[in-house]
Amino acid sequence: MAVLHLEVVTPEKVLVSREVDTVVAPGTEGEFGILPGHIPFLSGIQPGELRYEAEGKKEFLAVTEGFSEVSEDRVSVLVDAAERATDIDLERAQSALERARERLARERGAEDVDFVRAETALRRALVRIKVAEKA
Ligand code: ATP
Repeated sequence: MAVLHLEVVTPEKVLVSREVDTVVAPGTEGEFGILPGHIPFLSGIQPGELRYEAEGKKEFLAVTEGFSEVSEDRVSVLVDAAERATDIDLERAQSALERARERLARERGAEDVDFVRAETALRRALVRIKVAEKA
């Protein structure tokens, strides 16, 4: 059976580099799925769940912002941060969520950088909590 080569790379490390059967990723225009033979494709990535299936097993990752490229049965995902569901520190994500919520409550309505930062931190924390539940 045809396979895809998936790479998930962050500034810190190559988290995944392996053959997989399918990939579903959180694109900026919505979730998208990739099967072998997919047309070349570029997409932004937003914080969300990235899942893939390999050897009959589903794997789940939390990813933050970045972009992805699909070409010649190769899927490259470059993101600021990514964690396997099993590696997510749930308490840390819950604390990050709490901090972001406090900041948002304080800065409600403000259109400054801090508000946007708090919103994106909130989104990252929510994604990590959701993906950790899949571990
Ligand atoms: P925090 O406020 O807890 O640091 P953050 O959203 O600001 O969260 P990031 O800047 O997205 O964190 O990530 C920094 C590094 O920490 C990355 O390597 C990321 O993979 C890792 N990381 C962040 N949160 C967690 C978590 N809950 N469990 C495991 N690794 C995490």
